[in-house]
Amino acid sequence: MSEQTLFHKIRDKKIPATIVYEDDEVLAFKDIHPKAHTHLLFIAKKDSDFVASIDDLTEATAHVPGLLIRKAQSFAKAHSITGYQLKFHVGKDGGQEVFYLHLHFLSEQKIG
Ligand code: 5GP
Repeated sequence: MSEQTLFHKIRDKKIPATIVYEDDEVLAFKDIHPKAHTHLLFIAKKDSDFVASIDDLTEATAHVPGLLIRKAQSFAKAHSITGYQLKFHVGKDGGQEVFYLHLHFLSEQKIG
């Protein structure tokens, strides 16, 4: 069992977060220190989809970045957000602080 990160605790509702979207596969919540008007983090929920970083992807988890991107795209469409940025921070030297793969979703548009 890998180390429990902050985002495991958010996923498991052990610490609070402002959740904006959840289904069986992903959870999206507001970043606590937003760098855009709308700054969300998308994570995969299943233990089998857990990967710490893009740097640690394997064949078994190669689908996870695509899953997060697809859910972010659907979320944007559902909320009429027409322009946004998607980012992965990769490794400490890439600015990654939480080692539970997450997609940053940034937009100056509001969630409608
Ligand atoms: P990273 O730099 O690892 O790609 O991004 C981690 C993000 O998690 C940062 O943007 C940071 O603001 C956010 N963050 C850190 N602690 C918390 C927290 O307790 N709750 C929420 N919602 N976001 C957090």
